[in-house]
Amino acid sequence: MAKITKKIKTIKIDADKCNGCRSCEVICSFVHATPKYSSNNPARSRIRVIRHPIKDIWVPVFGGEYTAAECMGRDKYIIDGKEYDECGFCRASCPSRDAFKEPDSGLPLKCDMCEDEPSEEKPLCVQRCMHDFLVYEEREEEVEEEQGKLGDVELHLESLVDKYGLEKVIDTVARIAQK
Ligand code: SF4
Ligand code: SF4
Repeated sequence: MAKITKKIKTIKIDADKCNGCRSCEVICSFVHATPKYSSNNPARSRIRVIRHPIKDIWVPVFGGEYTAAECMGRDKYIIDGKEYDECGFCRASCPSRDAFKEPDSGLPLKCDMCEDEPSEEKPLCVQRCMHDFLVYEEREEEVEEEQGKLGDVELHLESLVDKYGLEKVIDTVARIAQK
C-alpha cells in the first residue's frame, strides 16, 4: 500500500485539571446538531465526561469507532485510589451501553476532530476548555494510505444495516428516493 504524509491530530488530556464543567460536551453537541446550532444537548456530544463528584472523578473521553458486537470481557481501572466504571475509558459506540449514541435514534457518534469546521484552528472542545485541560497538537507522519475513511453517513448506514439487515435498508432508501 502507498505511503502518504498525514497530519496527525491529537488532543492531549491532562487528567489532573478537569473540573467536570462539561463545557466541552455542550459546545460539541451544539456544533454537531442538525440543523447546526439548533440544539444543545450533551447527551449528543462526541466527547463525554466521566464524572463522579463524590469521588472527585472527571475524565473526558472522545467518541471512537462504532462496533456491532460488545467485548467478551470488561476493563475496570483503579488509579490513585479512584475506581472508574467498567468500560469507563472505552471510546467505542457499542451495544452494551448508551455512550456515544444519539439518544433518540441510537446511531453512533464519533469525534471527527471538528474537521467539518475548516475555519477553526483548533477543535471546539479544546477552545472551550477554560482550564487548558485539553491541549491540541499536530504533527506529520508517514502512514499507509487509508482506504475510504468512514464519515457520519457511512457510519450510520453501517449501524442501520447491522440492526435491520442490508435488504431492508436498501428497500427503505429506494422508497425514500421515489418520494
Ligand atoms: S474535537 Fe470536535 S467533534 Fe471531537 S469531541 Fe471535540 S468538539 Fe466534538
Ligand atoms: S471543558 Fe475542560 S474542564 Fe470542563 S469538563 Fe471539559 S475538559 Fe473538563
